Amino acid sequence: MKIAISGAGIAGATLAYWLRRAGHEPVLIERAPALRTGGYIMDFWGVGYSVAERMGILPAVRQAGYQVEEVRFLADDGRRVAGFAVDALRDLTRGRMTSVARGDLASEIYRAIEGRVETLFDDQISAIHEHDDGVQIVLQSGGTRDVDLLIGADGLRSRVRELAFGPQDRFEKDLGYRFAVFETAGYAPRDENVYVVHAAASRQIGRFALRGGRTLFLLVFGSERANGVEPTGSAEVRALLRTIFADAGWETDRILAAMDTTDDLYFDRVSQIRMPSWRRGRIALVGDAAMAVSFLAGEGAGLAMTGAYVLAGEIARAAGDYEQAFAAYEARLRPFIEGKQKTAENFASTFVPQTEFGIWLRNQATRLMALPGAANLMLGKSLSDNFELPEYA
Ligand SMILES: Cc1cc2nc3c(=O)[nH]c(=O)nc-3n(C[C@H](O)[C@H](O)[C@H](O)COP(=O)(O)OP(=O)(O)OC[C@H]3O[C@@H](n4cnc5c(N)ncnc54)[C@H](O)[C@@H]3O)c2cc1C
Repeated sequence: MKIAISGAGIAGATLAYWLRRAGHEPVLIERAPALRTGGYIMDFWGVGYSVAERMGILPAVRQAGYQVEEVRFLADDGRRVAGFAVDALRDLTRGRMTSVARGDLASEIYRAIEGRVETLFDDQISAIHEHDDGVQIVLQSGGTRDVDLLIGADGLRSRVRELAFGPQDRFEKDLGYRFAVFETAGYAPRDENVYVVHAAASRQIGRFALRGGRTLFLLVFGSERANGVEPTGSAEVRALLRTIFADAGWETDRILAAMDTTDDLYFDRVSQIRMPSWRRGRIALVGDAAMAVSFLAGEGAGLAMTGAYVLAGEIARAAGDYEQAFAAYEARLRPFIEGKQKTAENFASTFVPQTEFGIWLRNQATRLMALPGAANLMLGKSLSDNFELPEYA
């Protein structure tokens, strides 16, 4: 089948890989002029890790990844006030875990299809006409494409979802935070292989040193601090971040200055997408577009890869019966994803403490992680994926 995929991110490129392997003809339509390689460092384990293994990209992902040693919380003056060793988490996953920058993971996935799958960069879908025999999509660049199926893999603010299922606010669950990510070169100090975190009331700043002298920064704040402002465009985002983090202490001034040296600033709400159905006729959604779990789940990328793998597998298994394929895809994944969403939602209330006392309490809790068995008790459940990855021929 000819299958159009809107969005060449984590889910879209993974889907294209598996569809092509099953003998289909995917075409990716990506709004950005080139592959988007931004994003923070994330822990990569569980079912997503296994999908990467089946794609043969795991050695490259591990090589691009980092063996993080510690999560370290620092006070205003840079003193270590809490933290824990990451070894305990690696043990819980029996070593099947790495920490990798989102952009590096996206690049490795895309490398597996580059030159083999047609990708239309700098374009997007402006209209969808579904009929009995297929779907005609109208591209913003002017042309049209006739395909058998259309899959929306275009992220939290999916265009396909909006065109085919309804407006964003009907499906988005805001978890109460905003976050920004950017990368710079030459920042010091570095603290190699340590997630460095500083918290101030309802704000949190993290940095992680990458190879080649680069550093990633993650700024998170409670949405109430924005006083209803929804910034559009980079200048407004920067102005808002400067206001909100102005008195956050520690290295904040230097980090805000570093922000001005980069063009690539990613900013969004920490949200989930919850939909009554991920499919409608010949159209289905995958990844954040359908089932965003938010970064509080810690494995959005892995789950997006898993969704793509299952969707492609069910399309292959149903041998042309797309209704059966979409139904099986949804039935298999939905309970697992809803569990992940619930866990992330529960975590949201304590993720960035709102008061100094809350920060102190969180710091005490992280100290417990050093006790034997505590990591398993506190994180074992969220680190174990209660989902058996199907084998598809
Ligand atoms: C640049 C970037 C940085 C990110 N940083 C983080 C981070 O630091 N932490 C975190 O938890 N999550 C981050 N995310 C989101 C994270 O990648 C997803 O939560 C997760 O990996 C699920 O992947 P996805 O493929 O569904 O969505 P995404 O990875 O968001 O990919 C969606 C793709 O669709 C494209 N797209 C969007 N709209 C359209 C359109 N109208 N037409 C065509 N293409 C479109 C986007 O450019 C992107 O390539 C980031 C996403 C991006 C794009």
